[in-house]
Amino acid sequence: MLDGNVYRVLSRLHGIETDIAGPNARKVFAPLANRLVSREAPDLYNQAIMEFGALLCTPVSPQCMFCPFNEQCEALLTGRQHQLPVKSKKAPVRNRYFHYIIFRQDGRVGMRKREAKDIWQGLYDFYLVEAPQALDTEQLLEGTDLRPWLPALILGKISPVLTHQLTHQKVFARFWQVDVSDRVDPLELALKCGIAFCEPTQIHALPKPVMIDNYLKTHLF
Ligand code: SF4
Repeated sequence: MLDGNVYRVLSRLHGIETDIAGPNARKVFAPLANRLVSREAPDLYNQAIMEFGALLCTPVSPQCMFCPFNEQCEALLTGRQHQLPVKSKKAPVRNRYFHYIIFRQDGRVGMRKREAKDIWQGLYDFYLVEAPQALDTEQLLEGTDLRPWLPALILGKISPVLTHQLTHQKVFARFWQVDVSDRVDPLELALKCGIAFCEPTQIHALPKPVMIDNYLKTHLF
């Protein structure tokens, strides 16, 4: 059985520097713990090692002077009892606010390839405005490069906020459907926004993030 106390005791006794919060921790510590466990009384052994970690080999002030292993303990012998176990801090989750504008023109939809070195690189989404916080419609449209076209763009459905959790990021996304009137040159708009107007059949074939795919299936096609 591996809990925080067991990781600490094993890491110190054997001088193991594997990050106990990392993906390899179990692979490194489990075989060692299994080798040491008493075959006759595994429950008693588990209880004992956990209590040893909680009472003697404590996180901040290990009682090495009174420890029965102080002549073998690798951490004590090498002066690393305060450095072990190694435990990395979890990277904080970063919140990102995506505001998607979905341009529609004659049954086609403006799609954009994500070229930047970022999440979903190489996949297709829509024209995106990312901001440090959630924007409402007015803030969104007034704050973009779309101002010259605004009178010729017809605002349609606006989605609620959808969330998508990634390992170290949480995406909050909203989608604005915008119909492009015939007063707008679609080529000029596409160039400005880095999008290409695609037919539904073309869009089906494009690789897309799950969130975008779900949105398309639920709200557009
Ligand atoms: S000698 Fe100190 S660091 Fe090593 S096992 Fe004992 S209490 Fe823990």
